[in-house]
Amino acid sequence: MKKTTIKPALLPTLYCNVFGHNYEVSKKVTYHVKECTCRHCKKEVTTNGNGYLTDLTPKFREINFILENIHNRRMMRLSQKSFNKQNVFTKNDLQISA
Ligand SMILES: [Zn+2]
Repeated sequence: MKKTTIKPALLPTLYCNVFGHNYEVSKKVTYHVKECTCRHCKKEVTTNGNGYLTDLTPKFREINFILENIHNRRMMRLSQKSFNKQNVFTKNDLQISA
């Protein structure tokens, strides 16, 4: 009896070559930039600012990392702002009711 061993990585790649990759979003970097992974062959791509898919090269990984940091910092600042606004609002509310 011969064991037929198929490299597990080979088949999905073949599938992708025939049917195309089946990407799903693995990470949201910013509103516009997302990292996607193929469900079959685990190929990683990223959308650039124009919305096109590009191979997730180490260079793009670095860019996305920086973008993510900027995005997170901006989000934190925004949430802090709205938190402050809420504080002001409740203070005013107290003054009105007092
Ligand atoms: Zn694929």
